[in-house]
Amino acid sequence: MAAALPPVTATSVGTRRRPEARVTWESGKMAAPRAVGPGPAPLLRITAECGRSRARVGELRLPHGPVPCPVFMPVGTRGTAKGVTAAQLAALGCRICLGNTYHLGTRPGPELVQRAGGLHGFMDWPHNLLTDSGGFQMVSLVELSEVTEEGVRFRSPYGGEEILLSPEKSIEIQNALGADIMMQLDDVVSSTTTGPRVEEAMHRSVRWLDRCIAANRRPEQQKLFAIIQGGLDPALRTKCLEEMTRRDVPGFAIGGLSGGEEKDRFWKMVKLSTDRLPRDKPRYLMGVGYATDLVVCVALGCDMFDCVFPTRTARFGSALVPWGSLQLKNKQFAKDFRPIDENCDCPTCQRHSRAYLHALIRSETAALHHLTIHNIAYQLNLMGSIRESILAQRFPEFVREFLSTMYGARERVPAWVVEALATVGITLD
Ligand SMILES: [Zn+2]
Repeated sequence: MAAALPPVTATSVGTRRRPEARVTWESGKMAAPRAVGPGPAPLLRITAECGRSRARVGELRLPHGPVPCPVFMPVGTRGTAKGVTAAQLAALGCRICLGNTYHLGTRPGPELVQRAGGLHGFMDWPHNLLTDSGGFQMVSLVELSEVTEEGVRFRSPYGGEEILLSPEKSIEIQNALGADIMMQLDDVVSSTTTGPRVEEAMHRSVRWLDRCIAANRRPEQQKLFAIIQGGLDPALRTKCLEEMTRRDVPGFAIGGLSGGEEKDRFWKMVKLSTDRLPRDKPRYLMGVGYATDLVVCVALGCDMFDCVFPTRTARFGSALVPWGSLQLKNKQFAKDFRPIDENCDCPTCQRHSRAYLHALIRSETAALHHLTIHNIAYQLNLMGSIRESILAQRFPEFVREFLSTMYGARERVPAWVVEALATVGITLD
């Protein structure tokens, strides 16, 4: 017999103040934009479109302040991005980050987070948050889980008890966490899975979307996104797009990709999705964070991205730079007194040398914080440059310069990149 997750009373989330806190949002400490009430305005306001490709720049109008897009969203697993504080994230200009429903829902649990004023209050984060459904963990915990029409049953890695995550339960937890954007519970299969399971998962994801929409108790404050599934099968993805775009949801995610499939198949599924998604709603490509992938997928028409890559690779000593990455553990940096990137304005590059970081990296966690800050700054600056180039109507030139810096010679640019960009009118010559 499965024990359900404990019930959550989803009342007054986000408006309740922490009872013990003397400093409130309004006192100036956080300078937080106040949550705005319901309004008829659509979530996405497009301000400029590339004259050649599908790239567009705009603003997500969210309860905790506007977010310029295309945007990269750093991933916070348990109420913080690993290796960086919420205040540091805000100082870098981050205006939206992710919280992980599976992790927060099991520990510390939605009740406790709700008592702290929702995830915003718990983290002391005045900007926007997006929570996932908890469903992605199904892929990583698949040997411990069982998917039925009811939901996903899995064994808690903490207490060992059986837990049922249904679409309603996922939304109940996400309503309690109070994020500005919530994700539907979807039936996730690995992108390399083939056969009838992919079709089953696609249809189930559509049915679960309807259950999630019905379960959302705060639709004005918490925008629910659908997740397009269908694996790498164009017919299934098209079917899923047809079904889901009929529903009135504020935004769409492209899911089930970036799981180890060939790049050639990856970009074609992205393009097929942006072909059919409504122009006036945000398009969130899940799990994508390599710089080249970001640039190509912006060209294909995506607006939002998330990935653990920049923060994870920092913990392995790798610093992202416009020409690739620097492995700071390598001996070559022992006497290199330049910053990671002379053109980077992040706190790490303003203060510390490669030699200093190299000296710290094998024994001091401070080095990992410095690298994480730099890597997040790199991602945010890259997206800022993309937005500026679209606004200035020079995005194709930006793409050519980016690839030239990243790969050097034209023939080193991966074939899939050249092919994908050509389909939206960007050539490299
Ligand atoms: Zn830097």
